[in-house]
Amino acid sequence: MKTVYSPLHLAHAHAHEFEGGQLIPAKDVPARAELVLNAVRGRGLGPVVEPLHFGMEPILRVHAAEFVHMLEQAWPRWVAKYGYGVREAFPSAWPARGMTPKHIEDIEAQLGYYGFDTATPIVAGTWTAARQAADAALTAAQFVLRGERSAFALCRPPGHHAAAELYGGYCFLNNAAIAAQSMADRGHRVAILDVDMHHGNGTQAIFYGRADVLTVSIHGDPAAFYPHFSGFADETGAGAGEGFNFNLPLPGGTLWPVYGEALAVAIERVRAFAPDMLVVPLGVDTYAGDPAGGFRLEGSDFTRLGAMLARLDLPTLFTMEGGYRLDTLGAAVGDVLAAFEGA
Ligand SMILES: [Zn+2]
Repeated sequence: MKTVYSPLHLAHAHAHEFEGGQLIPAKDVPARAELVLNAVRGRGLGPVVEPLHFGMEPILRVHAAEFVHMLEQAWPRWVAKYGYGVREAFPSAWPARGMTPKHIEDIEAQLGYYGFDTATPIVAGTWTAARQAADAALTAAQFVLRGERSAFALCRPPGHHAAAELYGGYCFLNNAAIAAQSMADRGHRVAILDVDMHHGNGTQAIFYGRADVLTVSIHGDPAAFYPHFSGFADETGAGAGEGFNFNLPLPGGTLWPVYGEALAVAIERVRAFAPDMLVVPLGVDTYAGDPAGGFRLEGSDFTRLGAMLARLDLPTLFTMEGGYRLDTLGAAVGDVLAAFEGA
């Protein structure tokens, strides 16, 4: 299995996020991708290659042009407004009910319009890293499209919370959706099975009205877990997409027996869709003790996960999503991918 990785993610480095009423140390730290890279290398999973460059076109198949332009320009515009001492750009007001949601020129207004949380600061290297992550997913998709059984896009920042014109949850461009769209554009029927601890709200939103891309997600019940306003079981798709979105919310503290049952149901849904290709937004923040998580998977559970995914017997692209417990992150990702390869 080839892994696609770019060291340019290191430039997306911020000290803080805002949670629980205070600035806290950032959880999406650059060390995350380095730990996963070391695990991939340590296990001899396969070659590690840098992303090819695909330009803006495949990104604009999924994201709105104004949104992408905003991301590209956000940091210099923030610095122009707030001065050269600033280190992180956060929104501070959002267009809530009764207000007028519109794209206006002020950068702070734009962050509130396009962003949906206070966990996702933009810094000097954010746009470069986000572009590289999207290119990593597209490169990995190209390997799969050319006949390889699997590929791993080691994306950082992650992507599954980003929608067509929405960023948040540490995500800016939806790497998995961009890759899935590139497969769909070549005539393939694509299923996305998101196993991150949090609902892949961005991916769901992007494909919600479509029947050609199935979206399935297993995650913490949004009644208790981020992103709170997306991921309920009654969100099943709209219009032509009705019946092509499937959410499996699970309670906090979920252990493997319950998770494994949900995964079996999700896999059955994917199988019934009869896709040509599978995209797996891979988050391991399901690990017990993850600082952003709430499930209690551990150790060999991730081997079971990888082996079950392999039984679908589909060309499969993995994109790196969450996983914030640094002492177990590399091993958990390595376990999933190695089990998939070995099965
Ligand atoms: Zn997550």
